[in-house]
Amino acid sequence: QQKPRVVVLGSGYAGILTVARLQKLLRKEEAEILLVNKHDYHYLTTWLHEVAAGTCDENRITIPIGSVIDTDRVNFIKDTVVEVQKENQRVLLAHGEALSYDYLVVALGYEPATFGIPGILEHSLTIRSMNSARDIRSKIESRFADFAKNHKGSQEKLTFLVGGAGFTGIEFVAELAERFPLLCEEHGIDPKQVQIINVEGAPRILANFDPSLADYAKASLERMGVQFRLSTRIKAVDPDGVTLLSEQGEERIAPATVIWTGGIQGNTVVCDSAFEASYGRIPAEEDLRVKAYENVFVIGDCSSFVDKRTGRPYPPTAQIAILQSQTCANNIVNLLRGGKKLEAFEPFLKGAVASLGKHDAVGVVFGVKVRGKLAVMMKSLIDLRYLYILGGIKLILAKSSTSCALQT
Ligand code: FAD
Ligand code: NAD
Repeated sequence: QQKPRVVVLGSGYAGILTVARLQKLLRKEEAEILLVNKHDYHYLTTWLHEVAAGTCDENRITIPIGSVIDTDRVNFIKDTVVEVQKENQRVLLAHGEALSYDYLVVALGYEPATFGIPGILEHSLTIRSMNSARDIRSKIESRFADFAKNHKGSQEKLTFLVGGAGFTGIEFVAELAERFPLLCEEHGIDPKQVQIINVEGAPRILANFDPSLADYAKASLERMGVQFRLSTRIKAVDPDGVTLLSEQGEERIAPATVIWTGGIQGNTVVCDSAFEASYGRIPAEEDLRVKAYENVFVIGDCSSFVDKRTGRPYPPTAQIAILQSQTCANNIVNLLRGGKKLEAFEPFLKGAVASLGKHDAVGVVFGVKVRGKLAVMMKSLIDLRYLYILGGIKLILAKSSTSCALQT
């Protein structure tokens, strides 16, 4: 008799931890487990902004999938999912054969939200994957090299404009501010010729965060040289620069390299066509299944799970993705063993910490506000904890030996 087949799509936080837990809980004869991902590596999305700024070696945050899954228990397929056909329980891949499933976990992550802003996708850079982070790093380096060749000592400015001052935008401008003095030195450019502008539509940065911590973050970043334009929106991006809009009217900033961190949505390509998703986020039921599909689970950034207390979906975070992976795996094991009553997803959130470069951070942990060195320490603990969950002490040691020092 054939074993039931569990197919997991995506190997970000949500997908890889679901597989890690399934391989731990299930006996080999209980199910066949398949993991599908575009790349043969897992990356720590929460550090992508550092790779993009060039303040962290990409090897530090890249983990070969084969090193964290039990290849005797899990079949890994490196391919791109193009379609899910729920009615006949199949997944179509870009290169390989269609996969049939008995249980499906959709964990395909996020993509940048554009809000219909003209030119955003074509003319700005976005932190959406390891490849995009590498691309940003190399564009930054070539902008510095070109500027040194053509404008050194002139009145010209080398401008990097980051659109959006949520957690991603804030963490990214801090890394830029740490890297740029080194690039200026390398290329013999006067640091006064280089500017980092962070544009935010709301009247303050980190709009959904504690105001006193947001003020602390703003002051810290300003000391590092970041300029803020608040209550100002990116209206359009073109090959030369950007058009901003505020109460004062339109403003043109050109030339400028624009990096868009103005928000995210789920994986629209797959999720919107197959499910009743809104902006790539598929509504998840209490037990993380998709309504009317008893064998399909959706977790991580491509899911929308409503917080009963607020009536609004939880924000897309690694923390939620990690917690969901555990409930999802438990529920699949339960179903495979003939169980009827599934676990409800009830996250206990520990808080959030935003880094402000390597030496400063702000956060709320277990309801307590933290800033400065203590917050930096909390952030490192969060990162270490994740590596421990995924690959134990061995993975922590392997990753600690890779440099995350500033690079020129
Ligand atoms: P992802 O991590 O996006 O993984 C999705 C996976 O699916 C990827 O491996 C991708 O290659 C693969 N994939 C996508 N499409 C396909 C396809 N068609 N076929 C095959 N494979 C595919 N959250 C926190 O809680 N704390 C933080 O400190 C934090 N920092 C962040 C910093 C940055 C710079 C960013 C961008 C986000 C940060 N977040 C943080 C949010 C967090 O990273 C996401 O919520 C988290 O990555 C979601 O995990 P996921 O598994 O759903 O998706
Ligand atoms: P976000 O949606 O949280 O922030 C985007 C920001 O861009 C908002 O402040 C918004 O007002 C602004 N914006 C939107 N349109 C704009 C425009 N046209 N012009 C100027 N500003 C505009 O997105 P994010 O920062 O990418 O975060 C995505 C998710 O990842 C969130 O859930 C966040 O909590 C999580 N995250 C967490 C951490 C952490 O915990 N350290 C770090 C990064 C991201």
